[in-house]
Amino acid sequence: MPAYTGRDLGANWQRDYTLFKLWAPTAAAVRVILYATGSDDEPGAAMLGSAILHPAGQGVWQARVSGNWDGRYYVYALQFEGSDQECLTADPYARACGINGQRSMVIDLDAAAPEGWRQDRRPAIPPHARAVWETHVADFTADPAGGVPEKWRGKYLGFTAPDTCLDGDPSKPTCLNYLKQLGVTHVQLMPIFDFGSTDETDPAGYNWGYDPVNYNVPEGAYSTDPWHGEVRVRECRAMIAAIHRAGLGVVMDVVYNHTYHADSCLERTVPGYYCRRTPDGSLTNGSGCGCDMASERTMMRKYIVDSCLFWAREYHVDGFRFDLMALIDAETMNAVRAALDTLPGGREILMYGEPWTGGGTCMAPGARPADKGALDVLDERIGFFCDGTRDAIKGSVFDAGSKGYVNGGMYYGVRLLHAVDAWRDGADGFRPKASGQVVQYASAHDNYTLWDKLKLAAGRKDFAAVQPDLLAQNRMAAGIYLTCHGLPFLLSGEEFARTKLGAPNSYQGPLSVNRLDWRRAWQLEELVRYYRGLFAIRRAYPELSGAAGETAPILLATPGWMVGFVLEKADGNGELAVLYNPEPTPQQAELPGGSWQYLSDGATAGAVPFGEAKTGQIILAPTSVTILVRR
Ligand code: CA
Repeated sequence: MPAYTGRDLGANWQRDYTLFKLWAPTAAAVRVILYATGSDDEPGAAMLGSAILHPAGQGVWQARVSGNWDGRYYVYALQFEGSDQECLTADPYARACGINGQRSMVIDLDAAAPEGWRQDRRPAIPPHARAVWETHVADFTADPAGGVPEKWRGKYLGFTAPDTCLDGDPSKPTCLNYLKQLGVTHVQLMPIFDFGSTDETDPAGYNWGYDPVNYNVPEGAYSTDPWHGEVRVRECRAMIAAIHRAGLGVVMDVVYNHTYHADSCLERTVPGYYCRRTPDGSLTNGSGCGCDMASERTMMRKYIVDSCLFWAREYHVDGFRFDLMALIDAETMNAVRAALDTLPGGREILMYGEPWTGGGTCMAPGARPADKGALDVLDERIGFFCDGTRDAIKGSVFDAGSKGYVNGGMYYGVRLLHAVDAWRDGADGFRPKASGQVVQYASAHDNYTLWDKLKLAAGRKDFAAVQPDLLAQNRMAAGIYLTCHGLPFLLSGEEFARTKLGAPNSYQGPLSVNRLDWRRAWQLEELVRYYRGLFAIRRAYPELSGAAGETAPILLATPGWMVGFVLEKADGNGELAVLYNPEPTPQQAELPGGSWQYLSDGATAGAVPFGEAKTGQIILAPTSVTILVRR
């Protein structure tokens, strides 16, 4: 199969003509059919004509069609030998599309920009301060109490609403107004590319969106007008610009491991090429969603690289989170890294993913899945979610009743001895090259929220009710992953005891269960303040992250299941001591020599030391993380 090396696949718009280019080496003939609208079910629908594409080498077909086609829609019609039927498909390299992604759209991308887009810049974020907060466009903006105008709730533009606050009270910020004060540095957005599970004509539709249709087009359901392809482009960019103005980066959740249906625009243009198949010809299903993309094939690898470059360049995205990364081969992941690094500021673009699959796949011989076993070949700036830390903190995600270190499974302290150094000692059979490779976390969109997990493990079903012992467990969970070397990550609302009332996998909604409850955020103000304090400590004390290759934590001898360690301050001016007490009772521990002051006593946290100077013996609060600084 000849591979194409150019960067111009798709519909290349110019004022006087559009150059259509499609890689389809097995096709016998290709036409492009042009339409006035994105479907036949809307006013003004009409077929405008068609043009024949000609072979242009390396498996590419092309046609230069005169006229200004900005805002017009198209599909390709391919003919394959042995069939007299044309196969119709959207363009895999579409940069815009009509309703539900059925037809691609020619677009002048520079014109489809919000005001000020040219001045939009990625914020400069110090690596040691990084902390990622994961949310969903609709979840973030949908709560009527949150102050987003009704027409923008559930939409990209909800992020652009200025000065949002709870029930009109300006002292209680919500949405982006809240987030910019929290102390996290990046917002990770669940899928914003065009996905198939939500009908864009249905305003009540809801889905997490892990079912890609058009990889290089924003989802239409989050735009105020999914019928006109330029609107979703402009509004998605407006959201990103608003997040940047708040000083935060945007991490995009990308799902290159499978498509919504195996019968995708990719497979329609080159049947049998893009999906993995077993020797008997059947599709593999390592994604659990019906098909897996063959990332190890030259043109699928190129597709993933091109797509990431496209979002980084055209949408100024600051990072990528790869869904089921172990279904992608390590060489492809490194190729994405190398391509992003060539962009201005590209080395700061984050890359990390899930180092697991949803089942067996059939990667070509010689290719290596990008899982923990591939850390020897993966670039050290490609990270992975650390399930080892996650489960040690709160118990297994697969067993609701199981307990972790903060809620009764105290023997997990042994695991946390490795977690604090980002597992760099090789204890679990893998060895990260840099602490930043290890995503340290206690909750993500999958499985129970941290709060629901703590409730279930405690045998309580009153999910919304707030109890002091569970609050302490929640604070302690945050205290742990925010004092471990690595890249901290949390599900939005973890900091206000977010509950989905025990729903583990609410990908189909309803929105009422998934949406962030801004009243609860303010009811749990003290817990939010504790998180904010931890983020501030993280920012003020770079040695906590290990991002600059600081020395490993020095473990302290502690009684029972307690964990303690000391970190030399990066500025050479003293040390930090961190002590975990998993017991539900106060415990005594011995401080190293010198005079210490609190940054966290387990209930209050902040970058400014507080309380009386401590020496020698110290009492640790029940279920707590204590952080002290020695000058
Ligand atoms: Ca869609």
